Amino acid sequence: MNSDSKIYVAGHRGLVGSAIVRKLQDSGYSNLVFRTSHQLDLTKRDQVDAFFEEEQPEYVFLAAAKVGGIMANNDYPAEFIRDNLMIQTNVIDAAHQNGVKKLLFLGSTCIYPKLAAQPMREDSLLTGELEPTNEPYAIAKIAGIKMCQSYNRQYGTNFISIMPTNLYGPNDNFDLNSSHVLPALIRKFHEAKLNNTQTVEVWGTGTPKREFLYSDDLADAAVYLMNTYSGNDLVNIGMGKDISIKELAEKIGNTVGYKGEIIFNTSKPDGAPRKLVDISRLTGLGWQAEIPLDDGLGMAYGWFLEHVEKNT
Ligand code: GDP
Repeated sequence: MNSDSKIYVAGHRGLVGSAIVRKLQDSGYSNLVFRTSHQLDLTKRDQVDAFFEEEQPEYVFLAAAKVGGIMANNDYPAEFIRDNLMIQTNVIDAAHQNGVKKLLFLGSTCIYPKLAAQPMREDSLLTGELEPTNEPYAIAKIAGIKMCQSYNRQYGTNFISIMPTNLYGPNDNFDLNSSHVLPALIRKFHEAKLNNTQTVEVWGTGTPKREFLYSDDLADAAVYLMNTYSGNDLVNIGMGKDISIKELAEKIGNTVGYKGEIIFNTSKPDGAPRKLVDISRLTGLGWQAEIPLDDGLGMAYGWFLEHVEKNT
């Protein structure tokens, strides 16, 4: 990409897209194009075609998706598979039809089998059963990866796919019914502190392990790979370190300054036992994360106080 290349960031108001926009702007890319979902419904093929024909972007970051935590995936499986298949199919095909030079597709580590060997390598894709709580979402993401690879093979496009681990940061979803664990716990501990509640409920047993990457690190990796990597092989993006949900809860309790007790509600699902990604391909390509979890948690809590807490 050059500083005047026309770059479309799909999903620019979300956790990932907004971080990519910040990174691009900070790096001097000035010809960015985006649309809100009101202006452009990416599930509608005619709207997507009209947008690409009019704007003719050269580079596309496909960060628009329907995403959510374990309960949202469980409660709305049809929406997760439908919306994601439609959005990515429309954008990937329009990118091909309009001669986009390069597209970066954002996947997820839930594409890997539930019992994949840890840390999860890119070549464990499609070697076993998926975690049932987010299988429809994962199947959509796998279809997106295969679509990029197939277009590269048949049409000679340059569409790459990256698989970020669990992300957090500005513009995260803090709604307790649909969010992922990290923003949910920030909100729960914060509210318990304010209301002087002596218990915070954490779902599941607390034993599952997850890896967390700050969205600015992910954006840095995405821009880096857009500029340096071409190929059909997926690339995992992570820290290479994970922690248990119990440890995460304790860390967030400390960050927020909550002094009460933590209780585990084992009637709620645990989901996958562990989701640590193997980052050897990524480090081999010359990139590594820079924001430690403790720093990231402080920044995420700061963002929550500034943007969510103030408006509720
Ligand atoms: P996952 O990584 O796809 O399983 O999605 P989540 O981020 O939603 O959940 C990760 C783990 O955190 C699961 O074991 C959840 O049961 C656990 N968890 C604990 N408390 C919460 C909570 O308040 N919200 C969410 N979403 N997950 C929680």
